[in-house]
Amino acid sequence: MELLGQMMNTPMLLSSILEQAARHSADVEIVSRRVEGDIHRYTYRDCHARSMQLAQALIASGIDAGDRIGTLAWNGYRHMELYYGASGIGAVCHTINPRLFPEQIVFIVNHARDRFVFFDASFLPLVEQIAALCPHVEKWIMLCDETALPRDGAVPLASYETLIAPAADGFAWPRFSEDRAALLCYTSGTTGEPKGVLYSHRSITLMCYGSALPDSLALSAIETISPVVPMFHVNAWGIPFSATLVGAKLVLPGAKLDGESLATLFEEEGVTMSAGVPTVWLGFVDYMRRVGRTSTTFRRAVVGGAACPPHLAGALREVGVQAVHAWGMTELSPLGTVCSPSRGYAAKSEAARAAIDIKQGRAVPGIDLKIVGGDGAELPWDGTSAGDLMARGHWVAERYFGRDESPLVDGWFPTGDVATIDPDGYMHITDRSKDVIKSGGEWISSIELENIAMSHPEIAKAACIACAHPKWDERPLIVAVRREGSAVDVRQLLDFYAGKVAKWCIPDDVVFVDDLPLTATGKLQKMALRQRFGRHFTA
Ligand code: ADP
Repeated sequence: MELLGQMMNTPMLLSSILEQAARHSADVEIVSRRVEGDIHRYTYRDCHARSMQLAQALIASGIDAGDRIGTLAWNGYRHMELYYGASGIGAVCHTINPRLFPEQIVFIVNHARDRFVFFDASFLPLVEQIAALCPHVEKWIMLCDETALPRDGAVPLASYETLIAPAADGFAWPRFSEDRAALLCYTSGTTGEPKGVLYSHRSITLMCYGSALPDSLALSAIETISPVVPMFHVNAWGIPFSATLVGAKLVLPGAKLDGESLATLFEEEGVTMSAGVPTVWLGFVDYMRRVGRTSTTFRRAVVGGAACPPHLAGALREVGVQAVHAWGMTELSPLGTVCSPSRGYAAKSEAARAAIDIKQGRAVPGIDLKIVGGDGAELPWDGTSAGDLMARGHWVAERYFGRDESPLVDGWFPTGDVATIDPDGYMHITDRSKDVIKSGGEWISSIELENIAMSHPEIAKAACIACAHPKWDERPLIVAVRREGSAVDVRQLLDFYAGKVAKWCIPDDVVFVDDLPLTATGKLQKMALRQRFGRHFTA
């Protein structure tokens, strides 16, 4: 007979994380820069109380367990309340990326069958544009009080503050299985139709524990944490939950994510760590350099969502900030690896340490990784064999929302990334499988080539894409943006590659453009570049 452990079996619910903070970190602040422009402050105690008010209001409005509640909102306290209030009653908080095309947003809202959609005032024009195309949405609720609600608009609207006002005392969070759905997030659809990833209370809670560890994001009560990554981009990488878990002060930056706005907010609120995509940090260092400042409290920037170019890590260091490289994806909730020192790191030479620092890092405990070749066989962890990266673990998706077929291969999730893993377990992404350049049967890493271009002092931004080639199948092309006032030419940039990569990997040409297209999550949109320049060598 099975002998079971005799410990309390309390379900891992997101409401328990907030309840814990309300009791044990009650007076710790959550500061939000609101879309209205002003600063709002309250505490975990207040956040808990208002999330319970929202929970009661949702129940009173007929929202049942499993129903989806959409959000179109920036990082702010009301969005936090929606995370906790909706999931806390067993409903699902579905965060929608407002930077997507309106047609994609309509697709996502309809696919998720959102019953209510909550939105920041700044998204009113978007709501007016899409409301008629979303027949299942029963209520559009603006995150404001009654007085700020527009009158006589085309779409009937409700106010958030009015909705949550009539709450009674004595509410207790319902208890249910930790396997129930809590949040829903669609991949940005850079590869085909958006696909929904439905996180459970258990998967998010376990990722929060894993991400708070010292070798992961090293979160603690003494940090002041500002997730710059939006709450509609994979739950702001879980930070609204993990910061609550450890009782850290939270600073939610709202809609203004330019270098100056961030630097000012970080200084005023004493932010010590933050997380965002490389484009955000490029803006931040540009501003700091322009005004000749170094950071005082802000010490650690988690860089993820796209490869952290080595020159960005160097630029951040110059302004007093350490870059912490992390890798993940929507299907991994998103945290997969963090680049932190392993045993033996300190004893390595400076050059060896620098080579490690540019890697995406080691698997967060709870996540397992492997790389496989074309035949599906596992490849060695020798730091040079590159193969398709596969992941499995407590917070990896098994299937997509509303789809029967599972993407898993022998129980592993194929990430679509191509990577190496070294003997110490450091994973290094060389490409996304669709971006890798296949030249004469050999693979060339587009990330490596664009990183070299970006390390040129006169280049502001660069992308490397595969272009069809009559002889070699594909060859690399650099698409670059010069720094203001620079006249660097094709020859000079190509000469810059000499000695940095093997001769046959040096790009064949460079085209200069005014700007590079970005996806809705702030990453290079290589598909658009391939459409525009893909026939560069054959046209
Ligand atoms: P989308 O497919 O919509 O871009 P995600 O936001 O989930 O969805 O992006 C996940 C992908 O982003 C990863 O599979 C990987 O290709 C890329 N990525 C994330 N972090 C990094 C990183 N640190 N270095 C390189 N690529 C990264």
